This record gives sequence, structure tokens and C-alpha cells, in this order.
Amino acid sequence: MPTVPHRRLHGPGPSPVHPRVLEALGQPCIGHMDPVFMRIMDEVRSMLQQVFKTENPMTLACSGTGSAGAEMLMDNLVEPGDTCLIGINGVFGGRLTDKARRAGGEVTTMEVAWGEVFDLDSVKQRVVDLKPKLVALVHAETSTGAHQPFEGLADEVHKHGGLLVMDCVTSFTGLPVEIDAWGIDAAYTGTQKCLSCPPGLAPVTLSERAMHKAKNRRTKCNSWYLDLSLVGNYWDGDRAYHHTAPVNMNYALHEALSIVLEEGLEARFKRHAAAHEKLKAGLLERGFTYATDEHHVLPMLNCVNLPGGVGERSGGEGALRKRLLNEFDLEVGAGLGAFAGKCWRIGLMGEGAREEHVDFILKSIDAVLN
Ligand SMILES: *Cc1c(COP(=O)(O)O)cnc(C)c1O
Repeated sequence: MPTVPHRRLHGPGPSPVHPRVLEALGQPCIGHMDPVFMRIMDEVRSMLQQVFKTENPMTLACSGTGSAGAEMLMDNLVEPGDTCLIGINGVFGGRLTDKARRAGGEVTTMEVAWGEVFDLDSVKQRVVDLKPKLVALVHAETSTGAHQPFEGLADEVHKHGGLLVMDCVTSFTGLPVEIDAWGIDAAYTGTQKCLSCPPGLAPVTLSERAMHKAKNRRTKCNSWYLDLSLVGNYWDGDRAYHHTAPVNMNYALHEALSIVLEEGLEARFKRHAAAHEKLKAGLLERGFTYATDEHHVLPMLNCVNLPGGVGERSGGEGALRKRLLNEFDLEVGAGLGAFAGKCWRIGLMGEGAREEHVDFILKSIDAVLN
């Protein structure tokens, strides 16, 4: 294997992994039915409930990355012919739409420009008109840096018999995510964003209402691997073998969640906000501009336009990112989709959301821009 460099990870994920998490990952592998592993799973679930701010018994770490969590929810909660309403304001709403359609859903999409968010009153109006069985929005759109509000939407969705689904992959532990207080029926995240753990698990949580839907399907869940009636028994029921849990990744998640709870959620949110404010001031001073609606900028993902002409002078923004990587071991993200070639996505996630990291980012940017 080649020597792996120590990169400074400030793109859209993975984020810098805490040394304690790497140490946990390297503990001896044990059986996935070992009583010690069962205890680790119980503790992972209980910590996930604390961090998701939920009492949902069906809270678990789905095997696979964030996309597997999204698929677990869509495959279990959407049946052929179900009306779904999904917001697209970047890459990830588009992927949710694709997943819901593959599960047989009749999806109506709502779209706003990249960098903007959905106004909840207009979403509610669409819910009244359509009476969808499922409504899904992305809390933190990593392709655009936009922060979608959720509070106050669930009642209208529930009134018309629907479930509210949230993608909180990038926001989880960097911004408040209040599953029970906001009435969210199902949410998924990933380990490699603000949790500062390697990629590989997708924490998910489902309300009683969502589980009622999953348990009373007319048709079998399309996916055997992600079928909650099978996976759920391993996490929550009789511990029946379904698939071999990624044992060591669960150690890593256990350690990452312990670190989050030791720091405290409020302190962690404040740390993300402070790092963001410092980065934002430095970037604006250097002529960068935010590509996101200024009232809805995410702290952990800064999607910015390069100062006028800089990209062209230096052989394209890609050449500059290559220099950041080669000369400073610094990874920042390229623009995706509509923002490709125009934007950078600078991540301040988890362990990366620290003022010393911001100083390093700004210093490195100065070096390649001058
Ligand atoms: C990263 C991300 C995903 C996908 O997660 P993977 O771990 O790459 O599968 C989904 N939604 C959002 C908003 C993300 O940022």
C-alpha cells in the first residue's frame, strides 16, 4: 500500500478523524453476535437517540455510507404508487427523488434555484394540494451550502397522512437537529461529516408513525439488505443474524458519539459557528463571495465563488485546488453540478471546525492566489 499522507480535510467530507476514533477502529475485531458487541450496539443506539434528540426505539447505524441510509428510508417507506413530494435545490434532493422513484413512488418535485431554500408556507400549500404520503427535504445541502428550515412543517404533513423525511447528513452534530421536537418521521446521516469518523455507517432514526408504515406494507421492501423488518430485528428485536455488522466501524462510531457528548451539543454548534464566522470574514476580505442565499448559509459547508478572474488567470480553479493539495496537503471541495468550475466548497466539519484550521486554510489560499 502506498504511504497515506496526512491531509487536512476541508472539503464536503470526509472530515478530519479524531485520533481517539482511529484508535477505536484499531481494536480487536470480535464477532457480531459477541455479548460485548451487543453492548456496544446498545450504547451506540442510546447515544444516537441523545444526539438525534429522539426517543425513537428504531434508531440504528445502517451499514453503508449516508446514501445507504437514504435508500433504507426510501425503500422501506415508499410503496409503488405512493405520492411523494421532494424538494430539489441541489444534488442531494435529486438523488432522493431518484431513490423514491426506484421504490415505485409517484414523485412530484419542488425546485428552487441552487443556493436557495424552500419557503415552508409554499411547501405547506403543496402538501395541502397533493396530500403526499411522504415529504422529503435536505436540511444541509452540501452541494450549495444552504440551510433548510424544518421547524413548523410536520403538523401539516401529518394532518394529510404523510411522513416527513429529513436528510441531515451534513448538519448532524454541527447544527441543531431536533427529531422529536420538529416532528420528523425519519432521518438519516453519515459518519464522515460533522461526526469526524471515517465513512462507512449511516445512522438513521424512524418514528412510530414511520415504523407503522414500514410494518404494514402491501408489498415487500425491494431491498433485502436494507429491509427494516430484517435489520430491525438484529438491532432491536431478537438479535437474529441478518448481515455481518461492520464491527470495527461501530467501535469508531461509538467513540465519535462519546466525543460529541463529552463536548456537548451546544458547545459543538457554537464551535462550528465561530469557525465559520472567522472563515467567512477572511474569505470576504479576499474577494470571495458566497454562492448561497445569505440568510441560509451553513456553518460547516462554505460554498463560495472565487474572486473575479482568479480561476482563469491560474489555469482554472482545479489547478489552484491541486496546488493546495500538493503544496499544503489541504483538500477543499470542487463545485458540483450547476456550480462546477465556479465554486469551492470549504468544509469546517467536526474536528475541522476550529479557528487554527481556519488560519491554515486562509494562509494556504493566500499562498496560491498570490
Ligand atoms: C454526503 C451526503 C450524502 C451522501 O452520503 P455518502 O456518505 O456520500 O453516501 C447525502 N446527503 C448529503 C446532504 C450529503 O452531504
